[in-house]
Amino acid sequence: MQLQQSFMFELMERDDFEEVVFFQDARTGLKAIVAIHDTTLGPALGGTRIWSYKNEVDALRDVLRLAKAMTLKSAAAGLNFGGGKAVIIGDPKKIKNEVLLRSYGRFIQSLGGRFITGEDVGTTVGDIRIIKTETDYVSGVKLDPSPFTAYGVYHGIKACLEYVFGDDCLDGVHVAVQGLGKVGSELVRLLIESGAKVTVTDIDEERVKACLEMGAEYVEPSRIYSVECDVFSPCALGGVINDSTIKRLRCRIVAGAANNQLESEKHGDMLANLGILYAPDYIINAGGLITVAHEYQCTNQYKEVDTEMLLKEIEQIGSRLKEIFRISENILDSSGRQVSTHKAAEIWAMERIEKLGGMKKMFIPQ
Ligand code: NAD
Repeated sequence: MQLQQSFMFELMERDDFEEVVFFQDARTGLKAIVAIHDTTLGPALGGTRIWSYKNEVDALRDVLRLAKAMTLKSAAAGLNFGGGKAVIIGDPKKIKNEVLLRSYGRFIQSLGGRFITGEDVGTTVGDIRIIKTETDYVSGVKLDPSPFTAYGVYHGIKACLEYVFGDDCLDGVHVAVQGLGKVGSELVRLLIESGAKVTVTDIDEERVKACLEMGAEYVEPSRIYSVECDVFSPCALGGVINDSTIKRLRCRIVAGAANNQLESEKHGDMLANLGILYAPDYIINAGGLITVAHEYQCTNQYKEVDTEMLLKEIEQIGSRLKEIFRISENILDSSGRQVSTHKAAEIWAMERIEKLGGMKKMFIPQ
C-alpha cells in the first residue's frame, strides 16, 4: 500500500504530532517507526512494540494512536515526560534477534534523547537490555513495572470505593478480576490480603489455579461481566467495555489495569448513564510508567531508586482519580450533561500540558 505525502502530514496534523521517523536496516530486516507526539513536558517516553501488522499503514496508525495516549498518560501522572511510541514491524517470534535489536538501539541513540523507550507487547526486559548496549535512552531494565502497576490499581480501587460508598475499606468488598497475568495476579494478592472477596477468570488454567490457592473464586471467562460485584477490574484486554458487555455489567465501579478498556468514547458516557463509576485506564494503570520514569531519572543521576518514595508517588493515583471525578461533576458538555470521567481525565492532562507549555515560553537568560 502506498502512502501519499499529504496523507502523512494530514495524519500528523490531525493530532499535532511533532515528529515521525522511519528506520530500516536491510541487513537485519529492521523496519521501525518512532512517533514523537508531544515533548512540552520533557522527552517522549514510550515502549517499543513488535507486532506483525497487516500492512505499513496499520503500523503507522497504531504507533500514532499509542504515542498520543502516552502524552496524556505521562502528563496525567504528573511526570515531566512527553509522549511517544515505537513499533517494529514483524512477528517477534520470527524477526527478533540480537543484531536487529542492537541495530534498532543505534537508531534510537541517533534521536539524541528526544525519545526514551522500554518494553511493550512483543518485547521483554531482556530485549531492552540488549537495546541498551547501543543507546542510553532506554528505561525499565532494573525494576519490573508490573507489580507497581498492580499497586496503583489497588489504590485506585480504594479511591473509587471511597467516592462511591464513602469508605475505602476493602474488607468484604467483592471484586471481579478479568486476566491474571503479571498485573492481575498481583492485584488479586493485594485484594485478598485486604479482606476482599475476589472472583477471577483467565483463559490460562495455571494462572487461575495460582489465584484459587490464594482464596479467590473462579468463573468461566464469558461469565465475568455478569458477576454481581462492587468492582469489575479488567486486567486482560482492551475494548472489553462495549455494546455487548455493558448491559451485562452488575457492578458499581469499573477499575482495572487493561489499556483502552472502552471500545469507544461513547462507552464512557454509557457507563456514567448506568450509574457505574469508571476509573480512566491511563490514570489508574500509570504505576508502571511512574516506575520506568523514576528509574530513568535515577540512572541519569547515578542514584538507586528509592522504592519507598516511589510507592508513595504511586499511591497518589488515588487522589488523582478523586480529583478527576470532581472535574467530571463540575464540567458540562454541549448538551448540559456532566462530562464522563474519561473526558475529565483528558481535560485534566491537557490543562497541565498547556499550563507548563506556557511557562516554557518565558525567556531565561543563559
Ligand atoms: P499479561 O499478558 O501478563 O496478562 C494478561 C492475562 O490476560 C493473561 O493471563 C491472559 O491469559 C489473560 N487473558 C487474555 N485473554 C483473556 C480473556 N478473553 N479472558 C480472560 N483472560 C484473558 O499482561 P499484564 O502485563 O498483566 O497486563 C494486563 C493489562 O494491563 C494489559 O492490557 C496491559 O496492556 C495493561 N497494562 C499493563 C502494565 C504493566 O505494567 N504490565 C501497565 C499498564 C497497563
